Amino acid sequence: MDQAQAHQWLATAVAEARAGLAEGGIPIGAALYGADGNLLGRGRNRRVQDDDPSMHAETSAFRAAGRLRSYRGTTMVTTLSPCWYCSGLVRQFGISRVVVGEATTFHGGHEWLAEHGVEVVLLDDPECTALMRDFIEDNPALWNEDIGSD
Ligand SMILES: [Zn+2]
Repeated sequence: MDQAQAHQWLATAVAEARAGLAEGGIPIGAALYGADGNLLGRGRNRRVQDDDPSMHAETSAFRAAGRLRSYRGTTMVTTLSPCWYCSGLVRQFGISRVVVGEATTFHGGHEWLAEHGVEVVLLDDPECTALMRDFIEDNPALWNEDIGSD
């Protein structure tokens, strides 16, 4: 896909991540875009805010989009490589493309998605990387809780 477009969409996810950080949450944001380029839904990790470990950024954006008959041609944009749970969501609903802000601080399921026919655009965005690096450094326990490791 067009790199400028990918970066423009990523900015929506980054704004969500920053809003989450400001709320005391985990700074991961996401947005779901339609095949026509319309924003369908946006959201952020809400583990802390909602006391809900299943409310990841991608899941939050997905739920905000409401019901769609088909996810063909849609793009899930996320600031961080999607975990197994959110990667599963992408495959379950047939989301066609995933734009990933970075996969340096966390290596999720983006390669697995690519192996299964999902178009993956990995941007290696320095702003996304810095956001997570700083957060993990300041909140190691919360981060380990989110990724399910200790
Ligand atoms: Zn996830």
